[in-house]
Amino acid sequence: MLIGALEAGGTKMVCSIGTPQGGVLQRASFPTLTPDVTVPQIAEFIGKFAVAALGIGSFGPLDLNPASPTYGCITSSPKTEWRNYPLLSELRKRLGVPAAIDTDVNAAALAEATMGAGAGKGSLLYVTVGTGVGGGLMIGGKLVHGLVHPELGHMILCPMDSDPMPDGICPFHRHCLEGLACGPAIEKRWGLSAKLMTEDHPAWELEAAYLAQMCVNAICTVSPEIIVLGGGVMQQQHLFPRIRSKTLSLLGGYVASDRITPEGIDSYIIPPALGVNSGVTGALLLGAQALEAAR
Ligand code: ADP
Ligand code: ZN
Repeated sequence: MLIGALEAGGTKMVCSIGTPQGGVLQRASFPTLTPDVTVPQIAEFIGKFAVAALGIGSFGPLDLNPASPTYGCITSSPKTEWRNYPLLSELRKRLGVPAAIDTDVNAAALAEATMGAGAGKGSLLYVTVGTGVGGGLMIGGKLVHGLVHPELGHMILCPMDSDPMPDGICPFHRHCLEGLACGPAIEKRWGLSAKLMTEDHPAWELEAAYLAQMCVNAICTVSPEIIVLGGGVMQQQHLFPRIRSKTLSLLGGYVASDRITPEGIDSYIIPPALGVNSGVTGALLLGAQALEAAR
């Protein structure tokens, strides 16, 4: 049986055909232009295969309240052509199969919790640090939606004294996580591509300090059993030990867990076990869930 998966991103739409267990068989990518142009391309590619269901992991914000008339719509996105676009219902209609949608980061969290870094655990936080910063959260075996859905990338942090750009670059907030720590913020602050910075560049101590603040806030609010950090910026593997030790030091020994120790934290704040495939795997699992629900 085949499942369709859409990873809907601000720059490209990655369509995959795979199995209900998350294996990928075919893939095609289309630039994110306007819905009029791009959605037919997505439907045409996925429609060539006899998929039984579709799973979508999308950029947001999204309306994920099943009782809402605009369930499955993109809401207040800065991408104006996509604002209020009914992505879920349009693709469900065009493909004629059960479909499910969640945020791209919730899809990645689902995959990591099901068959990746957090397999067997009921709670997991997945954070991507790339062009933006976003977080997907599973608690008690369920992806968290709540009022809208978590906007972890926009949590307000305490700017560091050593930061030459302490307000960050978010157009909505001063010193939020994304505004301070996303790839473009690093590059604007230091005037250098993040990929070209050496490990001893001061950018990385600052980056680790902000990501440690985020980990502490997450540990103190939702107490995830594991924190997975992915995205382009986390390709800098040396960030992991720095974030771990700063997290321990900020927590000050208060949280009593064998994971929040110098030995335990190495397996607590970790990279995605599925690597760059967390998102597609999660979208396939969402598709499989939609099929199950329809039965
Ligand atoms: P997106 O968030 O658009 O899906 P990525 O997660 O790849 O894509 O994030 C892209 C951002 O990550 C860029 O802003 C770039 O600065 C940063 N980035 C990508 N690769 C690296 C790297 N090897 N080291 C540091 N930063 C990187
Ligand atoms: Zn913000």
